[in-house]
Amino acid sequence: GIDMLNVCAVEVEADAGAHVLPFTAGRDDALFEHDGQITKREVRALTLSALAPRRGELLWDIGAGSGSVGIEWMLADPSLRAIAIEALPERAARIARNAGQFGVPGLSVVEGVAPGALADLPEPDAIFIGGGGSEDGVFEAAVAALKPGGRLVANAVTTEMEAVLLSAHARLGGSLTRIDIARAAPVGQMTGWRPAMPVTQWRWAK
Ligand code: SAH
Repeated sequence: GIDMLNVCAVEVEADAGAHVLPFTAGRDDALFEHDGQITKREVRALTLSALAPRRGELLWDIGAGSGSVGIEWMLADPSLRAIAIEALPERAARIARNAGQFGVPGLSVVEGVAPGALADLPEPDAIFIGGGGSEDGVFEAAVAALKPGGRLVANAVTTEMEAVLLSAHARLGGSLTRIDIARAAPVGQMTGWRPAMPVTQWRWAK
């Protein structure tokens, strides 16, 4: 006989408080365990867009902090791989926890200080510099390691790092973008724009 299959539509009521994982980059900062050092969601969305992942590619996330950029890179497609390089042991441990929570335990975590920690890593298709970029040799090592055709994206919050990016732009070209985000927040009984620190972003294709 033929088994009859009874398919019924079930309405699922959305739980307003649920932490639902969206499909695109720029996920809520609160979904990540972090200590304040995290690329904010709006800036992170623009960063992932600039990194422009393609199937099968490898990212180096230098100065990975909470790991949010490497994790969002991995979430974009199961074929993508990422290595998070982080100097502070407690942050390196946090990156591994976040990767597990987000379902991308394959994210490699290298606890170490760039540029030394970059020496034996497999050649990347894309590099994000979120920290350490103004320290001796980090920037040069990243430029040298990148595969031809690869993308390098670096964000600066400090003027020291911005100076590195302005000089890189003058020497190598690429594009410079300034990202100014303001979020509405209470001002007494009213609401006003609370600006975040501006971020200078340099993007360069080798
Ligand atoms: N993009 C991250 C935030 C980066 S904060 C996120 O979204 O979570 C910058 C990080 O760079 C800090 O955690 C700091 O410890 C790390 N860092 C600074 N210099 C470094 C270096 N030379 N090598 C490795 N990590 C470094």
